[in-house]
Amino acid sequence: MKAAIVGGGVIGGGWAARFLLNGWDVAVFDPDPEAERKIGEVLANARRSLPALYDRALPAEGRLSFHTDLTEAVSNADWVQESVPERLDLKHKILGQLCDLSPASAVIGSSTSGFKPSELNENGACAIVAHPFNPVYLLPLVELVGPSETTVKAADILTSIGMYPLVVRKEIDAHIADRLLEAVWRESLWLVKDGVATTAEIDDAIRMAFGIRWAQMGLFETYRIAGGEAGMKHFMEQFGPALEWPWTKLMDVPEFTPELVDLIAGQSDAQSGHMSIRELERLRDDNLVGMMRSLKKTGTGAGGVLIRHEAALPQPVSDDLPITASRQIPQSWTDYNGHMNEAHYLEAGAAATDRFMEMIGADADYISTGKSYFTVENHIRYLEELHAGEHLTIRTQVLKGEGKKLHLFHFLHGSRDQLAATMETLLLHVDLNTRSSSEPDAAVQEKLTTFTKAHAARPMPDGAGRFVGERR
Ligand code: NAD
Repeated sequence: MKAAIVGGGVIGGGWAARFLLNGWDVAVFDPDPEAERKIGEVLANARRSLPALYDRALPAEGRLSFHTDLTEAVSNADWVQESVPERLDLKHKILGQLCDLSPASAVIGSSTSGFKPSELNENGACAIVAHPFNPVYLLPLVELVGPSETTVKAADILTSIGMYPLVVRKEIDAHIADRLLEAVWRESLWLVKDGVATTAEIDDAIRMAFGIRWAQMGLFETYRIAGGEAGMKHFMEQFGPALEWPWTKLMDVPEFTPELVDLIAGQSDAQSGHMSIRELERLRDDNLVGMMRSLKKTGTGAGGVLIRHEAALPQPVSDDLPITASRQIPQSWTDYNGHMNEAHYLEAGAAATDRFMEMIGADADYISTGKSYFTVENHIRYLEELHAGEHLTIRTQVLKGEGKKLHLFHFLHGSRDQLAATMETLLLHVDLNTRSSSEPDAAVQEKLTTFTKAHAARPMPDGAGRFVGERR
């Protein structure tokens, strides 16, 4: 699959990274001589953060190319994304050319923050709005506005690259999310202009409270809870009258004077000027990854999108020892030494054990029938360093898989195929009702026996059965 990215700034660069890291070839068209460098920097950030959302490997990266000829950039493209500056005359010109030059089957999306499809296409272009959020490679939301025959197809494609398409029912200036953001932005400008709060204080008001709430339940579900046991109706009766009180100046906008711009820019420099934009981006990305991974545990909001996308990523198969993990080592697994922290070897090994369980049918459905394996002992040997961004592959040998006992040996290999660690695990099959050991179901035992027999001829792995402090 191929995406053409027309306009490779903040947003175009993010689109390029999103497609590329999901295995698409990407062709970029941008007259800025700095475009290649800028996209390179966005890609570097994307490579360290996007794979960290997943416990499986993303597809192999596609091929990235830069073009000075628009026809060449869009040839054979399945998706064409326009992300040039937000000026209607420029959008008209570029979208007109894109609709003439692109394959008829390609979806042509515009990243416009505010223009409606009827405005974009008033000179006969054929684009839909596909409005993403910065950083495009991490945040899933894309607002789609346009005819349903195109938005349905667009939604399928975007879902396959881990995004969350939200089809907007009626075209409206600034779609949905930017209308909400605009209201908060306008009110914030007033608060700064009137000297009520600084930019830093407003940011604190957001991030110390409702910003965290919004990421997981949005506005309405949060307010439903705020109504207590009486729910949403009670909440509205309680706070409805406030709409009449002077809580808002939203009908009115402050005059956008040079003084206001200087006031805000000055406060913003004082607040965040000690960090470069790239440093701020990396901090933002690390925080987003951490929050999104938390949401993944409960499947809420963006976490649900990650679960669904991850389930669609293929699991590697092997004729040799089964591959029980294949993933990138995330930034958050490394410590001050720059290498993987010891606790995460256990996390990786435990995930490999879970994957092996799935392979023998002792999966979540099996556990819901009241049976499971419990880990009773682990032994990890740390042999070579592993670093953030490296690919981690785990292969698992069954040392014993009979009756109540399951004895596994995980081999952890890094990008250079170095054996970086081993983890030996002993598990007992347990009846979850009596909480005591029991025999596994016949179907699980049968699948396990297939592995046990296949691995029986292998030598005992070096290091198996070792204890702490034993001489090598
Ligand atoms: P930007 O200024 O960072 O990037 C625009 C890019 O377009 C630049 O690299 C520029 O060289 C290139 N360009 C200019 N003329 C061009 C042409 N004729 N052909 C090809 N490329 C050309 O702007 P941005 O923030 O990436 O915004 C791009 C679009 O995305 C806008 O429509 C904006 O509303 C929308 N958008 C922005 C954000 C955001 O947070 N910045 C979020 C969502 C959507």
